[in-house]
Amino acid sequence: MTVSDDFVYETRPVRVVFRPGASVTATPDEAERLGLRRLLVVCGGLGETAARAVADALGDACAGLYAEARMHVPVEIADHAVEVVRAAGADGCVAVGGGSAIGLGKAVALRTGLPLIAVPSTYSGSEMTPVWGLTEHGIKRTGRDPVVQPRSVVYDPELTLSLPLSLTVTSGINALAHAVEALYAPDTSPLVSLMAEEGARVMAEALPRLAAEPEDLLARGRALYAAWLCGACLGSTTMGLHHKLCHVLGGTFGLPHAQTHTVVLPYTLAYNAPAAPRAVAALGRALGAEDVPRALWELAGRLGAPRSLAELGLREGDLTGAAAQVTGQPYRNPRRLTTEGVLGVLRAAYEGREPE
Ligand code: NAD
Repeated sequence: MTVSDDFVYETRPVRVVFRPGASVTATPDEAERLGLRRLLVVCGGLGETAARAVADALGDACAGLYAEARMHVPVEIADHAVEVVRAAGADGCVAVGGGSAIGLGKAVALRTGLPLIAVPSTYSGSEMTPVWGLTEHGIKRTGRDPVVQPRSVVYDPELTLSLPLSLTVTSGINALAHAVEALYAPDTSPLVSLMAEEGARVMAEALPRLAAEPEDLLARGRALYAAWLCGACLGSTTMGLHHKLCHVLGGTFGLPHAQTHTVVLPYTLAYNAPAAPRAVAALGRALGAEDVPRALWELAGRLGAPRSLAELGLREGDLTGAAAQVTGQPYRNPRRLTTEGVLGVLRAAYEGREPE
């Protein structure tokens, strides 16, 4: 991008604390800075141990622990969490976990206006966005509202040590997908491009190190730093075909979030590449590759990630319906979307063949 290009960039107020151990050592200080005295800690079932440690560290400032977070934030759980917040007289929430726990914290913020502190334990990047999601009767709605953006984000690489290798890899590639689409977003900007290229470079370096040594704390820190950058890109731009396709595959066909992003990314990028040369050049520098879609496909394969939608449980008969949903509503994408084109992307991803 040259400085003469038009762009708009909005900085949102969020404080970031980044250090090993910070979930326990820094969260109470963040609550105090925000003037919060009674926080409900929310998490998913598997994240309860880490969340309990945060709750204990908060001491008297903890109003309770709610461990019911689920993928895609079912509306009944959000409603119940709001009741628990009100009954406890909480003045804010702390979400400890991945995008599902943070999504629940955002849903509470959306309904109550209460501030949220996020303590992420995956690389999905939700903590850096004003995007909320709620699922009712099998349909996931999403929206943007500054009230749901966490006011403070505590990044603790130690929290991610327990993330299984398979989820480490797919969650890391989920973050890479934010950087990829931010680079060609209609509302990208020079700062977003810098963050996206750096985020992609650092994540692509960290993941092979983690595949070799999952307990490498320095590599965990690098991956989390990359996730921060990629999440910030997601929060500042409008996503295109890739995120729309994954939203449909997750929301309507029940495919798992990070794994779906991992499988689909090489194919959506291969589709958009001819219309996004600057994005592809930036990614080429970041990954040290000439053929970026192929490099992403090889990276996933080398790291043992799933590579086909068939493996994730999609049925061949669903491809046409998914393509129709993806092209059903107009949205911005660098390359014009046709049902036939999207079906081609889906079919290639279904089979997991080398991207063309
Ligand atoms: P997740 O939060 O659903 O977590 C996946 C699984 O990993 C869960 O079982 C969880 O308990 C477990 N887990 C998380 N951290 C762990 C750790 N450190 N150690 C061991 N287990 C751990 O997964 P995710 O990919 O982070 O989030 C996916 C959800 O987030 C989706 O609903 C997606 O739509 C949403 N999301 C939203 C945004 C946004 O900006 N609003 C951005 C990205 C993702």
